[in-house]
Amino acid sequence: MEKLFIIILVPAAIYFVYFLLNKTEKNSKAIRRVLSQEGKGILEKEVSYYQRLSATDKIEFEERCLHFLDKIAVEGVGVEVSLKDYMLVAASAIIPVFAFKKWEYANLTTVMLYPNTFNPDYQFEGNQDRTILGMVGEGAMNGQMILSKAALEAGFANTKDGQNTAIHEFVHLLDKTDGEVDGLPDFLVDHTYTLAWLEMIRKEIIKIQDGKSDIDPYGITNRAEFFAVASEYFFENPDRLKSHHPDLYKALCIVFKQDLSFA
Ligand SMILES: [Zn+2]
Repeated sequence: MEKLFIIILVPAAIYFVYFLLNKTEKNSKAIRRVLSQEGKGILEKEVSYYQRLSATDKIEFEERCLHFLDKIAVEGVGVEVSLKDYMLVAASAIIPVFAFKKWEYANLTTVMLYPNTFNPDYQFEGNQDRTILGMVGEGAMNGQMILSKAALEAGFANTKDGQNTAIHEFVHLLDKTDGEVDGLPDFLVDHTYTLAWLEMIRKEIIKIQDGKSDIDPYGITNRAEFFAVASEYFFENPDRLKSHHPDLYKALCIVFKQDLSFA
């Protein structure tokens, strides 16, 4: 009896430990490399936000990227996840919450990378309507974020167009913390400031509609999309946002508790 116990249970236990190790191996390999020169080199080369940080802040940024990758799985769907992808996903997650030192993305478990754009049925091949670059999952997809790998990389490669899909999606996720993606994240926008915030969004949307704004026209879709596209612009090109939209710039500094412009 005792022999049988050993024959069955010991291999089962070994397999279980192996399974646990293997399960986290994908990210942890990348995690170990985050703190390597290779990971830092990617941040230095690809992430303009990181380039502008002080030496001390850079160390904190790297640690928080590491912590993020330790908690959240990044998985490729029909695509290889490179160290650069891990770094860009983590950077996109940390940038909007860098001033919130203890921030945890409680409403996220997995970021899935698709090769390119996909449609609402999560199909990314052979469809005419593959226009979505990223999304935060709802319902059965709760806790999942989907990003187009191509859009993730393009968002950081072009630092002048004010567009960054991954930051856009993480801002939606922050917005969702209070249960609703409505452009009014409760914990970000102080209650005394709510009316001024909503009024400013209204005015900026009218400017886009009148063709008098350089903010992505997708922002007129609704308040949540406006908040996300304005945030992309804020984090990617703070100096230009400050000069073209000073009030919106000031408001976003208050919301994200960061002043990024050197201008
Ligand atoms: Zn959006």
